Amino acid sequence: MRRYKKAFKPTKTLFRDVCEIDLSLTYKEKVFMSIEDGREPVDSSDILYREVLYIDDKPAAYCELYDETFNRVYVAICVDKSFRGMNLSEKMIDRMFKTVSETEDLKNKKFIWLVNRDNNKSIYLAKKYGFKTTSSYKRLKYRGWNFMEKWIDTHSHYNHKKINDLKLINEMFKTNDKIITLGTDIESNTETLRLISYYEDMYGMIGFFPNDAYVLEEDFVGKKTSEDNWNVFIHQLINQKLVGIGEIGLDLHHNNFGKKDCEIKGPKAIEYQMKYLEKQLLLAKDLEKPVSLHSRDAIIPTREIFDKFDEIKGVMHCFSYGVKEASYYLDKGLYLGVGGTITYKSNVQLREAIKETPIERILLETDAPYLTPFPFRGKTNNSSYIEYVILTIADIKKIEPNEVIRITNQNAYNLFKFDKKTA
Ligand SMILES: [Zn+2]
Repeated sequence: MRRYKKAFKPTKTLFRDVCEIDLSLTYKEKVFMSIEDGREPVDSSDILYREVLYIDDKPAAYCELYDETFNRVYVAICVDKSFRGMNLSEKMIDRMFKTVSETEDLKNKKFIWLVNRDNNKSIYLAKKYGFKTTSSYKRLKYRGWNFMEKWIDTHSHYNHKKINDLKLINEMFKTNDKIITLGTDIESNTETLRLISYYEDMYGMIGFFPNDAYVLEEDFVGKKTSEDNWNVFIHQLINQKLVGIGEIGLDLHHNNFGKKDCEIKGPKAIEYQMKYLEKQLLLAKDLEKPVSLHSRDAIIPTREIFDKFDEIKGVMHCFSYGVKEASYYLDKGLYLGVGGTITYKSNVQLREAIKETPIERILLETDAPYLTPFPFRGKTNNSSYIEYVILTIADIKKIEPNEVIRITNQNAYNLFKFDKKTA
């Protein structure tokens, strides 16, 4: 492919022709749709080739192929209202995108329409023609990547009423090979068992969250009830589609034990939390099941318990500490679960820790309905948004997004097995 000459030289061509050239070169790649107000969508020095679409003898759009990283060819189709200094009428832009949306070759392709945050007109046009929109291109190098493989969400809560929805969950399996859903108390553990028996590719874990473990404590619910609850839990665990014990851990952020009228706070609450984390860790060890661990603002007490174990099989879910803690957990044999928080601009510490962590020890997760990644913060999280976690990890690790999926899927298989035959 010839490198595009620096001096801009528009070529008169039909839009369809431009796209045919691109798509033959970019089988696995993506097509960008872009409206940028006078800005180049990429560094123009990266452009290999550029063609211009004319409508009524006026330049209406340009199509660029550019090599960003790893010699991958990308395609950008950009429309600029003041393209090359010529003002395009709104009618012309409208017509241009109508042509694109009706072009047969492009119908099944994944389009990302890049818009400026405040560009309501762009958003309006993108929606009008049914394109997916995104407001920030620069933050993620691989935005709009055409994923060829499905990923595995290793930590979610589809037992939560916000996302416990047949249509939504079925939709998730379009992008997710498998989903692990976790219980945190008696009710959600029971619902987890129902969900994994219903959805073929949904697996589960059950356990008692730091404050929810009060149902196992005789000081709170009496001797008989606490014993009954523990026995039911052990019986429930005999299920091949339960791939571990979780979500268990310590939470000094909420610093509590019990719920509503029986809730306590402070040092005594942490003591109870620690007691039931250790009890569930010992059970997991006996049953040879991995654990999914929650540790929030609890570096010291988490270490106090983990120091008692030579090795722990499992994952530090939503890992939120820095490089030093990462290496401690990795030495214990744990994987690090990475979700939406890695996409948050302020989370430099986590990105540094993940940079130092071998990708063979990373698992993808959502914690849905919580911890929605950028750019969907504020919305309810779901397993399809892992896309943005993958893109961020790819950026940090300087590997292709599909490679991130392949390796992290393998990690999930290594830890959780997912034996269908015995399900
Ligand atoms: Zn969780």
